[in-house]
Amino acid sequence: MQIFPCPFCGPRNETEFHFAGELGKERPDTTQEVAAPDWATYLYAQRNEKGPVREVWMHLTCSELFVMERDSVSMEVVGSGSLREGAE
Ligand SMILES: [Zn+2]
Repeated sequence: MQIFPCPFCGPRNETEFHFAGELGKERPDTTQEVAAPDWATYLYAQRNEKGPVREVWMHLTCSELFVMERDSVSMEVVGSGSLREGAE
């Protein structure tokens, strides 16, 4: 079991969280027609980087999305913050 830090609720069991995606993916411009392969890339393609990563997670208990920084190799969680802070 691992403890994840929700920036709103504090440290919680990992089973209370859901991975929501990699930070920094750019959503296709929906004011223009988006080709199916571009949607598929946006929805399903992951960089799956090795080492330090910044990801979007949801704490299922408070339903808040936030940014978590962790090492994908050691699984060490470095920190977490609001999406507003993580988007900078
Ligand atoms: Zn929370």
